[in-house]
Amino acid sequence: MNKKIAIIPGDGVGPEVTNQGMKVLQSISKKHNIKFECEELLLGGIAIDKTGHPLPEETTKMCKNSDAVLLGTVGGPKWDMQPSKLRPESGLLGLRKELDVYANLRPIKLLPELKSISCLKEDILGKGIDLMIVRELTGGAYFSKKRRECTEKGKKAWDIIAYYDYEIKRILKKAYETAKKRRSRLTMIDKANVLESSKLWREITEEFAQKYPEVQTNYMYVDNGAMQLIKAPQQFDVIVTENMFGDILSDEASMLTGSLGMLPSASLGEAGPGIYEPVHGSAPDIAGHDKANPIGTILSIAMMFRYSFNMEKVAAEIEEGVSRALAYGYRTFDIMEKSMTLVGTEEVGDIIAEEIAKI
Ligand code: NAD
Repeated sequence: MNKKIAIIPGDGVGPEVTNQGMKVLQSISKKHNIKFECEELLLGGIAIDKTGHPLPEETTKMCKNSDAVLLGTVGGPKWDMQPSKLRPESGLLGLRKELDVYANLRPIKLLPELKSISCLKEDILGKGIDLMIVRELTGGAYFSKKRRECTEKGKKAWDIIAYYDYEIKRILKKAYETAKKRRSRLTMIDKANVLESSKLWREITEEFAQKYPEVQTNYMYVDNGAMQLIKAPQQFDVIVTENMFGDILSDEASMLTGSLGMLPSASLGEAGPGIYEPVHGSAPDIAGHDKANPIGTILSIAMMFRYSFNMEKVAAEIEEGVSRALAYGYRTFDIMEKSMTLVGTEEVGDIIAEEIAKI
């Protein structure tokens, strides 16, 4: 079997964590006799430095021509003063739009080995946390026209949250189908008491709730949702929400699992390649120090096998490799605890790849 994977290391810790993902792919390749054709591509700050543009045409073309995209991270202080269109993040947003990956799946799972590093008390954690945030990824404020104006009262700036009904329907379909395969509970998070766009989201969700009676639907305002995630995270199964709320809530939820470095994500469209990337950013404060936790990237590769290649067994093996490394006590600094063994990015990547080979 052959699979074409576009590899985009990006900036900051991106190349370090992506490198560990490559070790996992090599391990899987040997074990299952799958040939991966991996093409390394430019995106973000490094693309600005080398080509003058955060999303070179070649990157878009090669990604569209692949079976899946493995992405590191983009951005960093070096490019912070660039005009918005020439910032690393605009390259990332552009690629999401080009591949039309409108559904961002972010599983938030507290692994039993890491229960004691969660920010929450043991009685709130209960039997563990296992929820899925389904975030709309190609609409809302991040993709609207941005405007600035000098008025009599002073400088003024706009960002607009606008959604077409078809954009809401397609993400709700993904969210309900996801809920059906899990514990059949869906919470729609919005701000329908204030925002018109949220009212449209809610109306359409009510229609979906009728179409999916087997899924229990409830609604929450985003301010309450942010609080409930910390107060009683067990109540959630699937959360579906618009782009900006999803961005903020998923980073908040990451803390339930102890570290941003642990969390994977998959960005999917109707057809075509999905983008698989860790939830965290380029972490300039630790870049180049062999400190970054690569587990978010490695678990993103598990999602690639699950969602793009339909190979559940391989996905489960990758997850098992991660669990075994943690069970043997190996920890990067962000999840380090007393009596555990501190390891760097490279070493933990080697250990997980070796464990996968043994399964
Ligand atoms: P960040 O996620 O990079 O870092 C937040 C904190 O988490 C830092 O203390 C960092 O050291 C830590 N951290 C992040 N990843 C880690 C890992 N794998 N292991 C251990 N610790 C980790 O967020 P930020 O500091 O707000 O942003 C830094 C840069 O990243 C900015 O330029 C931002 O625009 C960019 N960014 C990129 C993405 C992306 O590529 N998808 C996402 C968010 C932010």
